[in-house]
Amino acid sequence: MDDTGIHSNEIHVGASRTLGNARLLEAYRASTLRLYTHRLQAISEVPGFERLCDRAREVKREVIEHLDSYLAQFADNVERHGGKVHWASTAEEVCRIVVDIAHHSGAREVVKAKSMLGEEVEVNHALAAAGIRAMETDLGEFIIQLAGERPAHIVAPAIHKTREDVSELFVTHIQAERTVVPEQLTAIARRALREMFQKAGMGMSGANFAVAETGTVVLVENEGNIRMCTTVPRVHVALVGIEKLIPRLADLGVFLRLLGRSSTGQKLTTYTSFLTGPRRPGEDGPEEMHVIMVDNGRTAALADPKMREMLYCIRCGACLNTCPVYRKIGGHAYGWVYSGPIGALVTPELVGIGQARELPFASSLCGACREVCPVRINIPDLLLHLRSQAQEHAPKRQESLLPERLMFRLWAWGMRHPLLYALGTRLARWGQVLLARRGWIRKIPLFPASQWTKGRDFPALAPKAFRDRWKQLRGE
Ligand code: SF4
Repeated sequence: MDDTGIHSNEIHVGASRTLGNARLLEAYRASTLRLYTHRLQAISEVPGFERLCDRAREVKREVIEHLDSYLAQFADNVERHGGKVHWASTAEEVCRIVVDIAHHSGAREVVKAKSMLGEEVEVNHALAAAGIRAMETDLGEFIIQLAGERPAHIVAPAIHKTREDVSELFVTHIQAERTVVPEQLTAIARRALREMFQKAGMGMSGANFAVAETGTVVLVENEGNIRMCTTVPRVHVALVGIEKLIPRLADLGVFLRLLGRSSTGQKLTTYTSFLTGPRRPGEDGPEEMHVIMVDNGRTAALADPKMREMLYCIRCGACLNTCPVYRKIGGHAYGWVYSGPIGALVTPELVGIGQARELPFASSLCGACREVCPVRINIPDLLLHLRSQAQEHAPKRQESLLPERLMFRLWAWGMRHPLLYALGTRLARWGQVLLARRGWIRKIPLFPASQWTKGRDFPALAPKAFRDRWKQLRGE
């Protein structure tokens, strides 16, 4: 790991760690399969789901192509309703603004709703360095904060933790009684968090959507903690990535119908909050509302006509749940806050391809992510684009891939010479007799194939070649 805390180029190390841990493998398998199945069920109940996806993509395209004017419209409307808009180009600027607001409002304690952007800019560290205690209030985030970890999934940050793990963390860090009953664990977290909601002088949230037409920050959740964070403390700070905009309130229905179904398989999340400015006379809510509009590398993606599409993402997590790579290696292997197929796009764009050049290669390009994406981001295509950038920026990598390149050249040459190809496969079929068991080869001693079987089995060649079967079929 380097001193930036980004270790995306060590994805192989992280992947081996997960692959060697049967408990983690099972946690990822079971959780992603559950979310995947729920999504399938949920979308099957919506007539015209595909049309909704088309419409969502069209709206996001419109926003991203005219981002400057929608940003200005959103900022004007936030301020018209009494909110204060701040602009931050970098993670450091975001942290400085947040700490300044906390100091100015006298807040010594901050309650936080789940925000991937908050994780991205590491705002908790900045607050701690300023002597301000920040407490995560989303149950999953609360658990990983106690564990001192990063989220393992963009929707379900503690997806890799079992009940036993959570119990151990609660006993160690908040001196709770030992239990593995989910309801009791939730009650323990609830008690600890209630106290903080009452004490905190400032609440922080992210934003699922930001409506330009009205200046509204829209947040979806299931636990009610976001509503508490954004309404109980005297000051509310919302961190909003500049790509979160949607043009009109009328567009929201499209996205709300897609987001719940794509992420957890819900028709709608339990709570949907619409926050337009601080409280007005006679209302509940915060006295001050600050909205921090964050770039932190997003305009660089915007400047690349190919990568721009990445900004359509609504962070539903469906691509993670369907990805055969994420499902095996888990979220932490990706080495930063964003994981899975979308993480393999976002991380190189936000931290620079040099710090994450391995991520675009962590894909079989099977296209499963593209199939499930509700805004139809062509993830495999963008990964290929990033792969070529990675090659340009890392000449050393080309050297390290020499055996692989030779192998593919040999393969291509063999494919163009049918007789040689037939002879080669026949030899390989004889050669695998010693290695193959029940259709799989567990270990190939020769490099580079040995690298493959380090982490997974290799399918054995079929007992009879397709050409032979074809000949036989035609004969019959
Ligand atoms: S890329 Fe698509 S599927 Fe993946 S999180 Fe973003 S919106 Fe969801």
